[in-house]
Amino acid sequence: MLPRISGPPARPRPPARGRTARPGCCTLACRMLAAIALLLAATLQASWSVPPSANPPHSAAIPPPTPVSSHASIEVQGAPRQGGALFLTVRDAVHNATTRIHWLNRDWPVGVEDEDEVRTVVPIAVYVKPGVHELALYTDGKVVASASVRVVKHAYPHGEIRLPRAMLATYLTPRARAEDRRILDAAAVFLPRRYWHGNFVVPAAGPLGTRFGIQRTYNGWYHAYHHGIDIEAWGGSAIRAANAGVVTVVSHHMLVNGSATLINHGFGVSSLYLHQSHQNVRPGQSVWKGEVIGRVGMTGAGTGPHLHWACYVDGIPVDPEVLMHVPTGW
Ligand SMILES: [Zn+2]
Repeated sequence: MLPRISGPPARPRPPARGRTARPGCCTLACRMLAAIALLLAATLQASWSVPPSANPPHSAAIPPPTPVSSHASIEVQGAPRQGGALFLTVRDAVHNATTRIHWLNRDWPVGVEDEDEVRTVVPIAVYVKPGVHELALYTDGKVVASASVRVVKHAYPHGEIRLPRAMLATYLTPRARAEDRRILDAAAVFLPRRYWHGNFVVPAAGPLGTRFGIQRTYNGWYHAYHHGIDIEAWGGSAIRAANAGVVTVVSHHMLVNGSATLINHGFGVSSLYLHQSHQNVRPGQSVWKGEVIGRVGMTGAGTGPHLHWACYVDGIPVDPEVLMHVPTGW
């Protein structure tokens, strides 16, 4: 059994109803995905906020491009909060292969829905500093549309947790880290076509357990946060694609994550399903929203069957609840 959190639990567990006991949370896998970066950032301390320049895990800060006059407009929708995402629609913009969104000191790719409309989703990592941030779309190095976006602080609970040293060490092994890295790299792949439409659906039947963003300190020194939502579904029950997309990763028996499937939905959005007992899909396969892709299990590290469901935008974990309530028109 994973130790219980000494602080306030995220949510009371449902009755066991004869099932195998649930883990207090998903395995560390989910937390590990974030924890790697956080562990390296020894200065993170208990604070959520780090400078935006520290946000990009794999790109250096890029200065904003030069503004030019333009009739283009950016419509900003979504959840401008820590752990949220922005849904951007840019109309009447000059665009080509060089077109990017500049946001939080980093460039993000865009998709083209039709000739006059550029669309993309950009993430807001949980540790982005609250306040006003400038967003710009630029082409050939020149800004053609811009907007100011106020990012709101989102309070995520925090708890202390004790793990046997050997268990914590397992999560920190090079193999576990490499497996996490592979998933994050795949989740960062941008497909310029949008496969998904409308709200993402909860991919398994069961109570929602540990939520996204909960912060934990393990054994007094190791900081991590939960990258997804744990769905306390029955072992063997169906896992369904949260939205349409293309399967990009099917991994079997990873050390911590167990058997995992990653679906790329296009326009930067991916979803991840961990600890499966069975997997029905293969890489490259197209899936529809609601299509059964596997079965709930307890592979990897964990003490009971559940589905860890995580969502990413350009490789950054975002709250799946944001994608469960996408803006009108998306
Ligand atoms: Zn989890």
